[in-house]
Amino acid sequence: MSLQDDIAQTRAEALAAFDAAGGKGDAAALEAARIKYIGANGLVKAFMKRLGEVPKDQKPAVGQALNALKDELTNAHDAAKSRLGAAAPKSVSAFDVTEPLPPERQPALGKLHPLTRTVNELRDLLRALGFEVVEGPEVEDERHNFDDLNIPPDHPSRDSFDTFFLSKDALLRSQTSTVQVRMMETRKPPLRVIAPGRVYRPDIIDATHHSTFHQVEGLCVDMGVSMADLKGTLQLFVEGLFGEGTRIRFRPSFFPFTEPSAEMDCSCPACSGIGCNVCKQTGWVELGGCGMVDPAVFEAINHARGDKAYDPEVWSGFAFGFWIERLAMRRHGITDIRRFLENDLRFLRQI
Ligand SMILES: [Zn+2]
Repeated sequence: MSLQDDIAQTRAEALAAFDAAGGKGDAAALEAARIKYIGANGLVKAFMKRLGEVPKDQKPAVGQALNALKDELTNAHDAAKSRLGAAAPKSVSAFDVTEPLPPERQPALGKLHPLTRTVNELRDLLRALGFEVVEGPEVEDERHNFDDLNIPPDHPSRDSFDTFFLSKDALLRSQTSTVQVRMMETRKPPLRVIAPGRVYRPDIIDATHHSTFHQVEGLCVDMGVSMADLKGTLQLFVEGLFGEGTRIRFRPSFFPFTEPSAEMDCSCPACSGIGCNVCKQTGWVELGGCGMVDPAVFEAINHARGDKAYDPEVWSGFAFGFWIERLAMRRHGITDIRRFLENDLRFLRQI
């Protein structure tokens, strides 16, 4: 058989072998074909050595044909190899777990609402001070919302809360103090509880007021509890919330269920008490109300319980309450309370 015939036959066989190996995804067969046809000791190389057999006048043509064959088979091999890479499944070891996903495939991660996070922080702080977290219903009756908190029907302070009635004796609670009443009705002193939750008031909605907001109220009843205990507890609380060195001050105030009562301020977390826009240059920001439990509240509880478990001659207590929104606003520099309820993701993503 002449060299030309051998070349033609080998070309056909080699192309078929590369194509078959690529089509089956058989890497071993493809490598064997490469060695057989275009390897260092392969058939194409052997043909080169047989150029001497060719008559002199045909040598250039056969030489060109051999070079063309070598290129064609090399290309066929490369094409088959790239098909192999596409078809073959990646081995497990080739999967790089540290490789970040492209942006379009990254999952959208949610996070807790800023109010939920603030409540969680408050809970942790007050738990560390020995308070138990309790909850109560948002729909209340008049007795728990007003009467037992020393706010009788003819009391002027009732006007500012007296709203959101669902029926004659069911209303949305105007403060979480109702939970304190329920706790004292069912448990004997000593008692140390906090009640975070949603409350409703007929406030006109603006940047600092809303008809729906959250409170956390605390109650401690024990023997010999004084205003000093209240102040010490709140001092530790604000330092936990705003950092060490935060100061507190009480201003005399009035609440029907505490006597004496005080508004509580803390040194401005934004300027450390020097004076800035947040604190209106006063160095102080308002946080909430507090005071010593009015003995009349204990008497009302005793009346509801039908015993003398909360004898005001034996037990005393303090109570405090904060707006959770206000604390969250102080912490994150938020200037409009309405943002919390608008569900604007541009706002929520920033905090
Ligand atoms: Zn300030």
